[in-house]
Amino acid sequence: MTAPHAVISGASIAGLSAAWWLRRTGWSVTVVERAPRFRDGGQNVDVRGVARQVLERMGLVEAVRAVNTTETGTVLVDRDGAVRAELPSDGTDGATAELEVLRGDFARTILDALPAGVQFVYGEQIDDVDDGGLATGRVTVTTSAGRVLHADLLVVAEGVRSRTRARVFGAPGDVDTRDLGVTMAFGTIPRTEADDDRWRWYNAVEGRQVHLRPDPYGTTRAILAFAGDDDDLTGTDRDELVRRLRARYADAGWESERVLDGFASSDDLYLDVLTQVRMPSWRRGRVCVIGDAAWCVTPMGGGGASLALTSGYVLAASLSRVDTSSGPLDRQALDAALGAFDEWMRPLVDDVQGIPRGIVHFAYPQTELGLAARGVADKVMTSRLMQPVVARITRVADTDRPLPTIVDVERV
Ligand SMILES: Cc1cc2nc3c(=O)[nH]c(=O)nc-3n(C[C@H](O)[C@H](O)[C@H](O)COP(=O)(O)OP(=O)(O)OC[C@H]3O[C@@H](n4cnc5c(N)ncnc54)[C@H](O)[C@@H]3O)c2cc1C
Repeated sequence: MTAPHAVISGASIAGLSAAWWLRRTGWSVTVVERAPRFRDGGQNVDVRGVARQVLERMGLVEAVRAVNTTETGTVLVDRDGAVRAELPSDGTDGATAELEVLRGDFARTILDALPAGVQFVYGEQIDDVDDGGLATGRVTVTTSAGRVLHADLLVVAEGVRSRTRARVFGAPGDVDTRDLGVTMAFGTIPRTEADDDRWRWYNAVEGRQVHLRPDPYGTTRAILAFAGDDDDLTGTDRDELVRRLRARYADAGWESERVLDGFASSDDLYLDVLTQVRMPSWRRGRVCVIGDAAWCVTPMGGGGASLALTSGYVLAASLSRVDTSSGPLDRQALDAALGAFDEWMRPLVDDVQGIPRGIVHFAYPQTELGLAARGVADKVMTSRLMQPVVARITRVADTDRPLPTIVDVERV
């Protein structure tokens, strides 16, 4: 019996989770990653809700805990750094979750624990997809290096700006991308004595935020986030990016200047123009899309890493119901399995994507008046009385539904 073959494009959290679980359930797996080698780097993400169960099933809770960012809580600070409110971080899914981890550390933890036999192709990307349909029973991909791979399933896990998604789902209505009007610049800066083990969050007028968070490496992770689409920073090099951020944050106060000085020599600046991705269907023929490529929820929704991890498991569980013992995967059975995947994942995604209108204005006040109103709201929101409401906001990837079971898990 030949094992069914999956090509997975993208070696971050979604792609590696899918590789882990598909290999574990008997698939032959090839991962294609555009970067020349495994991508470390990236800032704070967390494992919440049902993703914790997936991590438990992978036996990786302690491995993730071992690289925890060390963050213990979240506070809102004023221009002088004084704490004006503290967000609840009790339990597993508070503002600071129990499992906080840097994206690169999380992805590497999964990579290091992959079952034997997963093949990797680095430094190439998919240039052509031929979903041969019923006649061939396979999907054929050709990479930028001319490598030809035949597979029963192509899993696209390329993140929010996925190129292969655009190639396969190019018809009007296939993919709805929504720019939320918020830009975030993430980077690592030197730690100072004053940096503690909390996430410190500062709001300034003109829709500007500054965030400082601890990491486990003796440095500090900083974010400059702002609302407004007057300045598109995508594609700018580091020096130009820092120059334009300096202009924007000139009078913002608190630690802005220090963050910008740090960014000026940081080698991991990462810019994200927050974009939600919505797709009415995540499958077409023998191709499916998972993770940010399928449903980017953005840091404003939260839970992107948890959904990405969960999606690899749910995909493998859905596919484990298909009989693979008699030749190539039957297209109808595959479609039913991918349909089951969609049905299970979609409520989790919808729950996070339904960001209320006006939240950007609330989160990024433009005027002193708006900032004062936000200050009052923060006091109310963080009062004991409102804790259940706040807890609901930070509870993402959460469900009462049991995870789908994997049929015959010990195949590998
Ligand atoms: C380097 C990096 C840094 C990040 N930093 C942050 C951060 O600081 N804060 C935050 O909230 N989120 C960050 N993210 C996003 C966060 O990791 C995701 O929201 C979440 O974890 C979902 O993961 P994903 O696997 O779906 O997508 P991603 O983590 O975006 O991974 C996509 C993967 O696909 C690869 N790829 C892209 N295009 C192609 C292609 N055409 N062919 C093959 N491979 C391709 C990418 O190199 C990457 O490895 C970062 C992502 C990356 C890749």
